Amino acid sequence: MREVPGPHKVTGVSPRKTRRERPPAAAWPLGPERAESWPDGDWVVRQVPGAAATKEYRCPGCDQEIVLGTPHLVAWPAEAPGVDLRRHWHRACWPRRLTRRPGSNRR
Ligand SMILES: [Zn+2]
Repeated sequence: MREVPGPHKVTGVSPRKTRRERPPAAAWPLGPERAESWPDGDWVVRQVPGAAATKEYRCPGCDQEIVLGTPHLVAWPAEAPGVDLRRHWHRACWPRRLTRRPGSNRR
């Protein structure tokens, strides 16, 4: 004998229940902002998950494109939070930028 559950007699967990996993406010689900102090100043760094990397950027560290879908980070000077100064970096290139500067940047 088998029991066929009717469409209005669902006793278990509804498999198609919509859960709120993402806050609707953020169109860009980035990680939290994090302040970092470096020899070249204070920066605000934000992790960009691969799903949010929907545009190609040129990494200033290696001068290579950050391919779509690549987790990377975006950083900007803490005292100048303008969008113009935001730079997208490969995660590996960000900490290396201080040693990879071509030549001397002293004036
Ligand atoms: Zn890079």
